[in-house]
Amino acid sequence: MNASLGSGPEPTPPHAQGQHLGERAVPVRQRLAELRGPTVAPHPLDARALAALAANPGCERRALLDGAGVNKAVLAQALGSPAPFGQSQFAFMRGNAFEARVKSDGGTELLRLLGVEDPAGALTPDVSAAGPEGRTARTALALREATAAKAWTLLDHPMLALEVAGTPVYLEPDAVVVHPDGHWTVVEIKSFPMLDGSADPAKVGAAARQAAVYVLALERVAAQVAGAEVGHRVLLVCPKDFSNLPTGSAVDVRKQLSVTRRQLGRMRRVEELAAALPPGTTFDPACGPEELTEAVSAVDAAYAPECLAACELAFHCREQARDAGAVESLGRSVRGELGGLTTVEAVLDAAQGRAGDPSDPTVAALRRAAGLRAEVLGPAGRS
Ligand code: SF4
Repeated sequence: MNASLGSGPEPTPPHAQGQHLGERAVPVRQRLAELRGPTVAPHPLDARALAALAANPGCERRALLDGAGVNKAVLAQALGSPAPFGQSQFAFMRGNAFEARVKSDGGTELLRLLGVEDPAGALTPDVSAAGPEGRTARTALALREATAAKAWTLLDHPMLALEVAGTPVYLEPDAVVVHPDGHWTVVEIKSFPMLDGSADPAKVGAAARQAAVYVLALERVAAQVAGAEVGHRVLLVCPKDFSNLPTGSAVDVRKQLSVTRRQLGRMRRVEELAAALPPGTTFDPACGPEELTEAVSAVDAAYAPECLAACELAFHCREQARDAGAVESLGRSVRGELGGLTTVEAVLDAAQGRAGDPSDPTVAALRRAAGLRAEVLGPAGRS
């Protein structure tokens, strides 16, 4: 599942690949290249990264770095705060082997999971082409032809484009199946097991968020094809129990789809974020940690403990949040409860009566809680 960046709603080429972008986009591309570093190739985004981006749309830091194609893992390393993040090589290889097994023999088993009685009769068009733009166009054509043919059709690793924060991202789902009635189903193949018909809810949730990104991109294509409709139930394919046999489950992604659509739509455009930076700012990993820390600090972050499972910069941002005494480091729900109190120090002062308006419900609740604590712990609990 790879993707790369480009420009324009009619999928214009990735800013990474030196293709024509249109007059407005060229300075933007140059600025983004400066941000990455003159010799640094852009890091492609994928649906997993987009799903994580959509989960924290208030983080301009991530939006800018992802939009500029900065490799956040390399940046975190250069900052001196590498985070153990991403799939292990073993998990990656196991995932690839399982996907190859699912798609072997023309995707027979995969199509059977969708109830196709004669998988051998299904069409399997070639969607390969030069570059992401060519593959996106080839995929759109194959989807249009398959819908018109009213035949079961399996598209293996099609390519879709989605504009995010003014920057197109190319996405590669595991597969898309076209039904004879014009219905399109996204197929997501994962190597975590499905035991007795159910799998780890956290992993299924992550897969659903990822699949919702594909559905969103696919809907843009379907809007141009008569009779096409994108299914909001995706097919999740996993190994059955502890075997290597594939089993499937339909996952309703309507909720994830509406959240992703809303969140991605809220994001500020990447060129706006870049324009707000001090001149000369760069995230080039060849720079020293101090310069990089200053550059990263120039963009607002929205740290939450959830970042630890979703972003390569999590250790760096957590350290910054802790150093600033920001209540965000305690979690979004705690942050929400504390209203206008934004630092741990302000919370302690309010709780101990050193500051804060006692008529403020948050301050009153903190004082009540501090009183109860002191009562339970006795003199030793007073601070
Ligand atoms: S770790 Fe930092 S950059 Fe990444 S999403 Fe969280 S706050 Fe944003």
